[in-house]
Amino acid sequence: MPETAPLRKIIHIDMDAFYASVEQRDHPEYLGKPIVVGGLPEGRGGVVATASYEARKFGVRSAMPSKKAQQLCPHAIFVRPRFAVYKEVSQQIRAIFSRYTDLIEPLSLDEAYLDVTEDKLNIGSAIDIAQEIKAAIKEELQLTASAGVSVNKFVAKIASDINKPDGLKFIGPSAIQTFMEKLPVEKFYGVGKVTADKMKRMNLHTGLDLKQLSEQEMIRHFGKTGLFYYQIVRGIDNRPVQPHRETKSVGAEDTFAYDLTTTEEMFSHLDKIAATVASRLERYQLKGRTVTIKVKYSDFRQITRSQSFTLPTGDEITIAETAKQLLTGTDLTDVRIRLLGITLSNFNIADKEEGTDQLRLF
Ligand SMILES: [Mg+2]
Repeated sequence: MPETAPLRKIIHIDMDAFYASVEQRDHPEYLGKPIVVGGLPEGRGGVVATASYEARKFGVRSAMPSKKAQQLCPHAIFVRPRFAVYKEVSQQIRAIFSRYTDLIEPLSLDEAYLDVTEDKLNIGSAIDIAQEIKAAIKEELQLTASAGVSVNKFVAKIASDINKPDGLKFIGPSAIQTFMEKLPVEKFYGVGKVTADKMKRMNLHTGLDLKQLSEQEMIRHFGKTGLFYYQIVRGIDNRPVQPHRETKSVGAEDTFAYDLTTTEEMFSHLDKIAATVASRLERYQLKGRTVTIKVKYSDFRQITRSQSFTLPTGDEITIAETAKQLLTGTDLTDVRIRLLGITLSNFNIADKEEGTDQLRLF
């Protein structure tokens, strides 16, 4: 898109500690208390879905094993998620958004992009719209949301995280360059820990540092995503807000700080990755018929292996066991594994439609 293209108005809305806030709202006895929504610490492999701000003070974070959360915050109250309720609330939030625009791209039950370049009520100011949406969510649903407002998705998303909870942050066109230059590399979303570490080893700590590299250098060091970083650091992100985004696969992968050589290590990492995939599937309400593993070796060779079932699954143990079988089916003599990944795909039609619907609920 040429730079003369009209500027878009993008809002990223992110509910504050969504599942935990809904539980606190519906159970007044939980108000002001550390609430952990997710797997129970007694259970096998339970993980934290969302922690209330009271629990976060103790270091409890999403995706952390529930056992660890309990160690950090022994008086935390563990609550099983009520996805049906969260979906319903998500629908109500979505209804509020749709008063202003139909260009809504949900990222999950509690997060969405809105394109309000042209809003239905002719309010014009994206900041005013964000404020109205926050107020409506508070008044009608007794929940708080944080909003980021900018001219593209990337900056809007980073902005919504700045004044959390109950925040509103606007980063306008004239402020984007400076903002991106000051941004620490690990704050660039999509930059995982491994890439962030690599950047720091290259003495790249901020957006300004990244800006010193040419397009070719960025691609050479960081591959395809290098080009994305190259553009983003210059405030360029032309990705449209896509209201009908369809989920085709759900997966997770891990790059290891050292190469895995024993089956035991590989299996234990597959267990962890399977847990992440299963919780994402649960969040999206999807089940897949095909399990695919990705294996990358220390010499950068990469293979994938798949297995399909008659019935769709989202079960953590089934996914983990299938992944292990697939890995065992590869040649494991003297291998050094750098990355393992698991993906579920082939969502059956009914599931897919339902899943898509639920993704659209926001
Ligand atoms: Mg959130």
